Amino acid sequence: MSYSSEAQVDEALNTVTNTFRSNVTKPLEWRIKQLRKTWWMLEDNRERIVQALSADLNKHRQESLPVDVAGIQNACLEALGSIKEWTKDTKPRRTDPLNLVGGARIRKEPKGVSLIISAWNYPFMELFEPMICAIAAGCTTILKPSELAPASERLIVEMVPKYLDQSAIRVITAGPKDMNYLLEKKWDHIFFTGSTAVGKIIYAKAAPNLTTVTLELGGRGPAIVTPSADIDLAAKRIANAKFMNAGQICVGVNHVFVDPSIKQKFIAALSKYFDQYRSGQSREPAYATRIVNDRHFKRLDSLLENSQGKIVYGGERNHENRFFAPTIVDGVKTSDSLLSEELFGPILPILDANLDQAISYTVQHDHPLALYGFTSSQAEKDKILRLTNSGGVTFNDAILHMLVKDAPFGGVGASGMGAYHGPFGFNEFTHLRTVVNVPGWLELILKVRYAPYSDKKAAA
Ligand code: NAD
Repeated sequence: MSYSSEAQVDEALNTVTNTFRSNVTKPLEWRIKQLRKTWWMLEDNRERIVQALSADLNKHRQESLPVDVAGIQNACLEALGSIKEWTKDTKPRRTDPLNLVGGARIRKEPKGVSLIISAWNYPFMELFEPMICAIAAGCTTILKPSELAPASERLIVEMVPKYLDQSAIRVITAGPKDMNYLLEKKWDHIFFTGSTAVGKIIYAKAAPNLTTVTLELGGRGPAIVTPSADIDLAAKRIANAKFMNAGQICVGVNHVFVDPSIKQKFIAALSKYFDQYRSGQSREPAYATRIVNDRHFKRLDSLLENSQGKIVYGGERNHENRFFAPTIVDGVKTSDSLLSEELFGPILPILDANLDQAISYTVQHDHPLALYGFTSSQAEKDKILRLTNSGGVTFNDAILHMLVKDAPFGGVGASGMGAYHGPFGFNEFTHLRTVVNVPGWLELILKVRYAPYSDKKAAA
């Protein structure tokens, strides 16, 4: 698909900037209408979304319908149900005179013109969920889908103008090289989903204009399995997190620390569940999600080739159609190629480590986006929470903390800044503006501030 020209970028940006300045996006009616239309856009195009994800990633509808269609629709419904509460003025808690007689309040102002840039692994969700936040906040938006999911990108380009207000919400297509032009422009907020490396570029490009950013980045999320865990259940859930989307999930399990005393049992259970998820089709099940492109296939292939660990399950791969079997690699050391970068694929390195060793390794590296502890011991859970940091934590499962309602989803340090979901996403696109009105009669109290200064006034 051809990318938007500079003239098209200029035209789109001028349009949404003028629209924001004309205040049409501020009334709740406009926001509610766009949110409803977003819901209908997803409803009317659900089969096409499923097909696009199948074309881009060979994703099965059992994965795409609940996440990439219903999941976004739920975010729409949540925004529609909460928008009155999110947008209404709030009062500061204190009871001092400015708060009380000055009627101090905090207004929720839209930041203005926003740019939303998304990754390819959930190309609809990562674009539309932030867009829902931007609409709810009253911002205008330029959407930049990922070029690496071209069927999804094409559908987004086609759908959005048919459903949403074109004077306020536009789609721009661009590859990495064209991003410079887009990022030189002045934005009021940039919401970026993607890698930590590109996140740093976005942050640097936003700095000269003091543009605020939300950075939803990657990370090497570990799972720690201790002897107190339900081993079979831990394996079932970790295998699921690696199988889904072929492990191309920002909150996936990157590697597993497992206590040596339970390792063999754990690996046997993992293998059993991978077999189950593949329905015994050890080579290439028709429905398995593929690696997104040649570059990522070669990257994973080379990381696996260079690993000193031993493949104990899977390892089959087909460069032609980018099928990569879920692959367990045992005996991985911390210096291994498989731990040199975020895997973002179906390889599961297993490291021998007790809880203390797992924590010690984890805290010496960037804070991950997600951290998973598999343990039945409250003391072990407390220890993990006390000694580590990460965007979010799920105990005894993976991924699910990102589905908690009204809770922030985001990273910390190298895994990102800012958060979304529910009111937290609304807040990212909102400026909190404090307003106070000072009545004349408050001079009774305020008069002490005026010069000429005197010790008597200072003591008052
Ligand atoms: P990426 O950083 O390569 O690309 C993301 C977006 O940035 C794309 O739209 C791309 O066109 C654009 N881009 C690429 N190079 C650029 C450049 N030099 N300048 C400006 N823009 C550029 O990431 P990806 O490969 O699409 O996605 C995978 C990464 O995203 C992984 O690290 C994953 O963990 C992360 N991710 C994070 C979340 C989250 O919610 N935290 C969700 C999904 C993916």
